[in-house]
Amino acid sequence: MRLILLGAPGAGKGTQAEILSRLLNVPTISTGNILRAAMKNGTPVGLQAKAYVESGKLVPDDVIIGIIEERLQEDDCKNGYVLDGFPRTLAQAKALSGFAKIDGALSIEVSDSEIEHRMEGRRICSKCQATYHVEDNPPKVEGICDKCGGQLVIRKDDIHDVVENRLHIYHEETEPVKEYYRQEGLLLAVRGQKKLADTTQLVFDALGISL
Ligand code: AMP
Repeated sequence: MRLILLGAPGAGKGTQAEILSRLLNVPTISTGNILRAAMKNGTPVGLQAKAYVESGKLVPDDVIIGIIEERLQEDDCKNGYVLDGFPRTLAQAKALSGFAKIDGALSIEVSDSEIEHRMEGRRICSKCQATYHVEDNPPKVEGICDKCGGQLVIRKDDIHDVVENRLHIYHEETEPVKEYYRQEGLLLAVRGQKKLADTTQLVFDALGISL
């Protein structure tokens, strides 16, 4: 299955993408994770992306489209993939249609006030990028990743003003992408729930997955 997860930053796309990946045995391709890894490693793409990512702005379309087009050609994508964080603009969605055949675009709908609560409490593992929330999904030991023992940090783009900026950009640039997939007959939507497992159940129902 070649699936796109849509939704505001902090809606839970990354978490649901990982769950679906394991279940469907296909990779999650997260543009945010690719960019953060490139920034950490100081690659040319990372250097180019840094100022955009840290201020909550979108990285230019040509950079992101190039990354995804190349990534989807890798062997592990042969049986499908889950895209997390791409496409985020109409130009990206149209470009993707030129080099990939998508089976569905699933939107996770969450209100702006809930997004603010989620992002401002989000912590991310500096080593393996696993995500936690100080109240809703805390690690067993404060500040330490359950999975790899790495240190949990606050993403620079999860601070209040940057969150506001990212939400504004989401409404302006990314919401039209939903309409694009609606017109293609590929859009599915679920309402994000407080409990992760409840959202997962709705995602499975929407995709016709029964365990
Ligand atoms: P995310 O982890 O998906 O919230 O992405 C973090 C940041 O990476 C975003 O705020 C953007 O600066 C950048 N980014 C990720 N995906 C894209 C994309 N598809 N287009 C442009 N910028 C992106």
